[in-house]
Amino acid sequence: MSADGQIIEEKITKVNGETAVKRYSKGRFLGKGGFAKVYEFVCIDTKQITAGKILEKAALTKARARQKLMSEIKIHRSLHHTNIVRFEHFFEDDNNVYIMLELCTNQSLNDLVRRRKRLVELEVQCYLMQVLSALKYMHSHRVIHRDIKLGNIFLSEKMEIKMGDLGLAAKLEFEGERKRTICGTPNYIAPEILEGRTGHSYEVDVWSFGVLMYTMLIGKPPFETNDVKTTYKRIKMNAYTFPESVNISDEAKDLISRILVTDPAERPTIDDMMTHLFFTKNIIPKLLPTSTLAVPPSSS
Ligand code: ADP
Repeated sequence: MSADGQIIEEKITKVNGETAVKRYSKGRFLGKGGFAKVYEFVCIDTKQITAGKILEKAALTKARARQKLMSEIKIHRSLHHTNIVRFEHFFEDDNNVYIMLELCTNQSLNDLVRRRKRLVELEVQCYLMQVLSALKYMHSHRVIHRDIKLGNIFLSEKMEIKMGDLGLAAKLEFEGERKRTICGTPNYIAPEILEGRTGHSYEVDVWSFGVLMYTMLIGKPPFETNDVKTTYKRIKMNAYTFPESVNISDEAKDLISRILVTDPAERPTIDDMMTHLFFTKNIIPKLLPTSTLAVPPSSS
């Protein structure tokens, strides 16, 4: 609570060399990640509210950590799409780096699925179609997200999907380049990353998308176990099942089974997924009402 109302100053140098100061009041705490704490920032002049991601410089002393941050900023600021959290700008003071992002007031899909246990198919169709739209855009700009998961997908005030956290994203230098860094989040990581023999590319996002879809419909990730090693073993053996206790449609099962295949070359493309029966069999609403943050949409 003591941090509430703290004033943060951004020094701006104008083209003529004069300096000005933009002042923000640091408000509500929104969440924390690996390196960052995120708060609502209210611009004192304009009253505009943004999400301010604060990274302590003390944690950025290693060259690698700084490079990673610069890469995240460079990639994120180059992306402009309705379903990707908008990158406003960044600045620094003596202690911190501040990344100013579009504010997503309705939390992450992780919070939503926790609250609701699992989502109904219409919601999954609506949210995932927007995720696909963002992914299609990123991939067409040679960017792999590499950390697609419930906790990195946010909901705006209007309940639009906003993909965030480009901290692990990679931009390919050329089409066909294979990446080798082992990264991701255990439950969502693709088998080829764990095997690490051939490098990886866009297909790792397709795999994580499959894990995401399963998790939204079933309520828990397909390869989840109590320890990471066993989870990795299951991913490599492609050992998952659909629990009988949860009813999901044949189209949903069919799409998940096509995505979660060990050979990345056999996975569907983004366009294949968009035109799969799971997304085309009924009319999908563009947006869902905020009531669905707490209860399923009414079927009437
Ligand atoms: P890290 O890169 O350190 O993992 P994240 O970008 O995942 O940090 O942000 C950490 C948390 O802050 C998120 O889980 C979420 O709760 C909150 N958050 C991040 N970005 C936003 C945003 N644009 N709007 C609202 N909350 C956000």
